Amino acid sequence: MRYISTRGNAPVLSFADVLLTGLAEDGGLYLPETWPEFSLPDWESLRGLPYPELAARVLAPFAAPDIDLETLRGLCAKAYANFDHPAIVPLTQVEDGLFVQELFHGPTLAFKDMAMQVLGQLFEHVLTQRNDHVTIVGATSGDTGSAAIEACRGRDRLSVIILHPKGRTSEVQRRQMTTVLDSNVTNLAVEGTFDDCQDLVKALFADLPFRREMHLSAVNSINWARIAAQIPYYVYAALNFGAPEREVSFAVPTGNFGNILAAWAARKMGLPIKHLCVGSNRNDILTRFLNANDMTIKGVVPSLSPSMDIQVSSNFERLLFELLGRDSAACARIMTGFRATGHMDVPEEVWENARTVFSGLALDDEQTEAEIRNLHQKSNYLADPHSAIGIAAGRKFRQPGVPMIAEATAHPAKFPDAMVAATGIHPALPVHLEDLFEREERYRTVPATAGAIKDAVRAAVLANAP
Ligand SMILES: *Cc1c(COP(=O)(O)O)cnc(C)c1O
Repeated sequence: MRYISTRGNAPVLSFADVLLTGLAEDGGLYLPETWPEFSLPDWESLRGLPYPELAARVLAPFAAPDIDLETLRGLCAKAYANFDHPAIVPLTQVEDGLFVQELFHGPTLAFKDMAMQVLGQLFEHVLTQRNDHVTIVGATSGDTGSAAIEACRGRDRLSVIILHPKGRTSEVQRRQMTTVLDSNVTNLAVEGTFDDCQDLVKALFADLPFRREMHLSAVNSINWARIAAQIPYYVYAALNFGAPEREVSFAVPTGNFGNILAAWAARKMGLPIKHLCVGSNRNDILTRFLNANDMTIKGVVPSLSPSMDIQVSSNFERLLFELLGRDSAACARIMTGFRATGHMDVPEEVWENARTVFSGLALDDEQTEAEIRNLHQKSNYLADPHSAIGIAAGRKFRQPGVPMIAEATAHPAKFPDAMVAATGIHPALPVHLEDLFEREERYRTVPATAGAIKDAVRAAVLANAP
């Protein structure tokens, strides 16, 4: 498969190159040149397969010819080997016609592991083939950093450097990063905010000589391989509920639009998905768009579901490009206007088109807490604040005869304060993290200047050189 940019002005790349490149040179995002389509017998042949095998087969057309099915099998088997549930992505019923798919059984207890574990394997494979090394630099407010660190730890061909805002992540989140002591992992506690961290990472990537010298690479959610690795669990769930003969719908707690975009991709490949429901917190740019064609940037307000506290959903650009009939010039024009004015001028027919598949629901913190309490009382199900928002969206938009599957994106033990406030229950951390609070931590505190970060990156890469 070859990949093209949504803005039409970047080189066409193969899967392995897209994996290492991330953002396209023209500022756009990569998408497959054509969508692979699975036939009815193709879908049927996937039913009942163990999850890693299913994942390899769904990824195969995207990775060909760079990586063959046999290799993908091995990589996916390793990626999901240390998940703590035999089904990897188990399904549970919570109400009539409303189901939950749990995506949080990986090492860091959030759905980011689903794709990031595969990415770690893919990087290692491609870099070994090319006898190369890359330095992954990223900023995190919590979940992404720990998932990236877990996926890259102990890999010779990868150095991973993660910036977090000092004192501004939860203690569980910080310890999930700082207690990983592998020599290729560096945690930088930046004296600043998450926005400062993001700006510093951008500054590093903008310094082209430094970027080339250090072989910088990114694993943020605009990396196509992350989206691709999220498609298989939608396939798994749909097949369980009778696809391809029967339609299903999904509800997804949404931030950067990466998770739900993977569901849309599965639909594009021929999986019979009727409806996709976006769940938001008070940072509701997507819900405002879906309800009123109002995609306008507002300031971020902190919420009970911090992984959805976003101003802009970067992956929305991929959907926009598709809904514009793949008109890259129009896409570039709209995105440039959005950056300049803070308002996205989406043509009326594109908005109408989006609404035939997508719906949105936003919950404030009070409603989120009430949803968590209700689910616990009525269904005896403990949902973290993100997952609870998805379930509420699923309930609102469910239709008779179409199973509605809500994606649960974080383990409740990641958000103990919210769980105690809503239910009185303090969920226990899974066994592999039980001693998290006794483990040794390692991180360096650095001032929020590009010079200090560059020095730290250079030192980390030198220290890890073979
Ligand atoms: C990242 C994350 C989300 C948002 O996913 P997107 O792909 O950015 O839409 C939702 N819930 C949790 C727990 C997350 O970590």
